[in-house]
Amino acid sequence: EDEKRKYIKGKKLGEGTYANVYLGQVRNDPSQLVAIKKIKINKEYTEGMSPDAVREIKHLQELDHPNIIKLHTVFSSKDQNLNLVLEFLPLGDLEILIKDTANVHYGVADTKAWMGMLTRAVWFCHENFVLHRDIKPNNLLIAADGEVKLADFGLARSFSDPYRPMTSNVITRWYRPPELLFGARHYSAAVDVWSVGLVFAELVMRAPYLAGNTELEQIELICKGVGTPTEENWPGVTKLPEYTIGNQITPVLGKDHYNALFGTVGNEGVDLLMKTLILDPRKRITARDMLKHPWWHKDPKPTRKKELPRKS
Ligand code: ADP
Repeated sequence: EDEKRKYIKGKKLGEGTYANVYLGQVRNDPSQLVAIKKIKINKEYTEGMSPDAVREIKHLQELDHPNIIKLHTVFSSKDQNLNLVLEFLPLGDLEILIKDTANVHYGVADTKAWMGMLTRAVWFCHENFVLHRDIKPNNLLIAADGEVKLADFGLARSFSDPYRPMTSNVITRWYRPPELLFGARHYSAAVDVWSVGLVFAELVMRAPYLAGNTELEQIELICKGVGTPTEENWPGVTKLPEYTIGNQITPVLGKDHYNALFGTVGNEGVDLLMKTLILDPRKRITARDMLKHPWWHKDPKPTRKKELPRKS
């Protein structure tokens, strides 16, 4: 209750699936702006706070990194709602920039800068045993100085307990890796890396690479756009609870296929993309190894954050 008094709640900034977001000012320094995210109470969990909300707090407060949204504090209001006081990020998100092809122009150097910021955020989460589990352009918010910040940790959870089965119904469909679509219960940090790969592909194409309308269609698109998961390329995959593939098998697509679609990022860029989209999660590149990839040091160099394109 004391925490609540520190802020003056202002206009509504937006509405999400499980929260309303308001502008806020720090009472004794009104020039300092924050975003107050008021979590809608889930009726199933009237006793105490919703598990989603609790997860978001727990993980955000521990993570302190320039590319991860800062959680200033948490308070509950009279109506038992949970309020997260977050860093105010006024410049929208990457989805807005990707979609606005008429007004926003960017190139490989910009993509490299954004991918670098995203990869460092994901690396930091994984180093701290946090899975984000919902990485997508809409959850990559942009700060006033151009810094991209990973946000919306609603589904984040620690993977420090590998034997506790996790629900496989996470991650927005288009960014969901094959192991989750096949119902794997013991997944790993590799789920986030797959999503990072699809953000990379989308930044280049300026359209989602694998945009399935249903889970089944999502699997079909992965088979056609990456390759069909089989025992040969992914030992054990056929034993996953919801393993299904169509009747034709597409061999894992090679460099030529990716070059034709994503060649603008250069040879090393295509190599990095392909490593994030390896079907078998055990063979997929890790965020740590992504940071060691030669692509970052090839020309063009990543754009400096203050020179990155902004929404118009
Ligand atoms: P969603 O992920 O569905 O967009 P959120 O609840 O995270 O839902 O956010 C809803 C909206 O509130 C966002 O689309 C954005 O316009 C705004 N918003 C969220 N977080 C912030 C923030 N930290 N700073 C500024 N605006 C924000």
